[in-house]
Amino acid sequence: MGRLSGKRAIVTGAGSGIGRASALLFAHEGAQVVAVDRVEAAVDETAEMIRKEGGKVSSVAADVSEEAAVKGFIEHCISEFGGIDILYANAGISGGMVPLHEQSVDYWKDILAVNLIGPFLAIKHVSPHMISQGKGSIICTASVAGLRANAGGTPYSASKAGVISLVQTTANEFYGTGVRVNAICPGLIETGMTKTIFDGARARGSDDKIGQLNPLKRYGLPPEIAQAALFLASDDASYVNGQAIAVDGGLSSTHPFAGRR
Ligand code: NAP
Repeated sequence: MGRLSGKRAIVTGAGSGIGRASALLFAHEGAQVVAVDRVEAAVDETAEMIRKEGGKVSSVAADVSEEAAVKGFIEHCISEFGGIDILYANAGISGGMVPLHEQSVDYWKDILAVNLIGPFLAIKHVSPHMISQGKGSIICTASVAGLRANAGGTPYSASKAGVISLVQTTANEFYGTGVRVNAICPGLIETGMTKTIFDGARARGSDDKIGQLNPLKRYGLPPEIAQAALFLASDDASYVNGQAIAVDGGLSSTHPFAGRR
């Protein structure tokens, strides 16, 4: 018996990085998974990886910032697998690093649409199903950038602070329903989103410096975030609600320091 046996899960951003690792782990632990990403080829590749491992999966190409698309993939999970127990709203974009005075309203809107409106839409449309069954786990990927500065651009950081507030407020809006809403705040993880950082550091020969700001002195890998998502998705986290859990090697625990060795 896997830790998610009998459960039906949706994972967004499942075509890459943290989402792919989570979709694979959820399926490995017995969940039937709807893998969602905006690029069909990417999400199909994830689905193929799951099938090869003997898991049950259905893939959907959809934009998480489009309300009709979000309703569509939630309904798809219900028609394909008979219900929905877990929704991991993970898809996100970084928007890069643009100086404040060069940022346009459209630039902000694009980032907020995916990173904050996307999780809002997922919660809005999945919660009625979960409330009616008296149970469900919603997880969002926030970021250490939502906790304090210097881990991403201005709109990215604001969007992730918004996600932390979103899980707190919705967990309380669902008072007495049995539906849990939590967020994960990853530190620096090697994924598609951070590829340019890693490529640049490797090209400069300074890759041994990546991740040195946290007490574990290293960057993280997608399966390490997927393990936190698995915990929150599973009944092991039955009393964890409204929390934003940092999975960052200890980065957010410290004041800036020069380093001991
Ligand atoms: P990733 O490898 O780029 O994966 C994100 C996936 O989401 C990509 O496949 C991306 O597609 C997809 N996506 C983007 N916009 C979408 C949309 N509108 N609709 C559907 N899918 C969309 O990056 P990742 O690091 O795994 O990111 C997952 C989450 O972790 C994000 O929310 C990110 O902000 C968060 N996070 C990452 C880090 C880190 O260090 N990597 C740290 C903290 C938080 P495209 O490739 O086509 O854009």
